[in-house]
Amino acid sequence: MTWNLYDRLLASAVTDQSICIEKDDGTTLSYAELAALSGRFANFLAGLGIGPGHRVAAKVEKSVEALALYLATLRAGAVYLPLNTAYTPAETAYFIGDAEPTLIVCDPKDEAALRAIVATAGGRIETLDPDGQGSLVDAASACPSEFDTVERAKDDLAAILYTSGTTGRSKGAMLTHGNLVSNALTLVEQWRYTRDDVLIHALPIYHIHGLFVAGNVTFAARARILFMQKFDAERILAAMAGATVLMGVPTFYVRLLQNPDLGPATTAHMRLFVAGSAPLLAETHRAWNGRTGHEILERYGMTETGMITSNPYEGPRVPGSVGQPLPSVELRIADPDTGAPLAVDEVGMIEVRGPNVFAGYWNMPEKTAAEFRADGFFITGDLGKINPDGYVQIVGRGKDLIITGGFNVYPKEIETEIDAIPGVTESAVVGVPHADFGEGVTAAVVRAAGSSVDEREILKALSGRLAKFKQPKRVVFVDTLPRNAMGKVQKNLLRDRFAGLYA
Ligand code: ATP
Ligand code: MG
Repeated sequence: MTWNLYDRLLASAVTDQSICIEKDDGTTLSYAELAALSGRFANFLAGLGIGPGHRVAAKVEKSVEALALYLATLRAGAVYLPLNTAYTPAETAYFIGDAEPTLIVCDPKDEAALRAIVATAGGRIETLDPDGQGSLVDAASACPSEFDTVERAKDDLAAILYTSGTTGRSKGAMLTHGNLVSNALTLVEQWRYTRDDVLIHALPIYHIHGLFVAGNVTFAARARILFMQKFDAERILAAMAGATVLMGVPTFYVRLLQNPDLGPATTAHMRLFVAGSAPLLAETHRAWNGRTGHEILERYGMTETGMITSNPYEGPRVPGSVGQPLPSVELRIADPDTGAPLAVDEVGMIEVRGPNVFAGYWNMPEKTAAEFRADGFFITGDLGKINPDGYVQIVGRGKDLIITGGFNVYPKEIETEIDAIPGVTESAVVGVPHADFGEGVTAAVVRAAGSSVDEREILKALSGRLAKFKQPKRVVFVDTLPRNAMGKVQKNLLRDRFAGLYA
């Protein structure tokens, strides 16, 4: 039996005339047409000798053809390697040098830079522009649309996905066909996905959220994708009348809440709002519920593991919690230093094991070895606890933990208190070097429009609410928090920026 993800999700798509993708301009593509397009691309790849073991890199804007290239790479038995479109030439050179793809498909505007890179790193280049045109499409148009998908085993690689680089240099997570199949089928079940679903897809497709969660899950159910080039609040609100599911990062929900049109009527046709990739504030969850009557379903996952936990479809979706471990995913909280298991309600390292957990970091055997326990549990780097009701609560990343005067401070606890102060929109708390304390608790705060709340007022508000050692030594006001494309706050940038504050 083959484990090829394509066959598991889309084997019979070739005769399925139902609509798979609807584009911004209203044009549609059926499952059969997508199968034919991916078949052409797969024949083109196979004609270049690309098959098992080869990597196909794609640094292209979001397009239907880019999705077809992903599927074609799976069908050819090769490894798909999407790259963030925002990477600079220097960053791209690192990834290409690291992953050594046989073929790189890029936007025509990046072609010259990539030619310079492959001059040393090697590899062939084809182009694909945002409208789905380019040398890849031209070359593949002469290829037949039928292709016998290459058989793959459960542990064979399907993709290398680089992590978001929030805590340091991105690492290439090696994901197998078995990893992706199991996670996609589990989520279809858990989120009650059917072919009647219509997904609003406004996420990038170089990241796990847009490609594997939104993409694979929808393919597996043979549902429909409203394929949007980028996030546009008005467009999304207008699409809701004909859609059923939205998957977004928390910033999507924050921005949709700013639109006066959001209400019970606009969301009446929708059945599910999913959030993930970064923490969803409990306040956003409640505000969304108040405005629309819907409860956002928050889930937690990472590039290395796919989805780990989810709030339930039926049953309470708890604000500020990421829900319970998915079926077949084992999750435990361990002492970060010793690995000893911790009890309910104790904060420690989140560790996971299951069919969803990746095969290791590309080219980093030592890093891989360091991130796994002897019994096969993967050390996520996220700190959290399991509540008595079995729900998981994330308190932040291990790397963001502040140790000040020998005490542990979890930034999220401080941020929650600061965010509740009138006149504050949001905040991020980081530790920066401090001669006496090792690290000084430092708050970056975004004021609400028209607010003039100052450092003294914030410190005063916190003084009765937080133990002395947790209180920020300084509060600094910023216009916005630095965020990456997935809505993650880049705390490393804040730490760099405030590095000299206590010098
Ligand atoms: P890098 O590993 O390169 O530093 P990254 O961890 O941000 O980057 P991703 O794999 O895209 O790269 O993100 C996974 C991380 O995102 C998780 O480890 C967790 O910290 C965070 N995350 C995802 N979903 C949630 C959620 N619902 N709540 C809180 N954090 C989340
Ligand atoms: Mg990570």
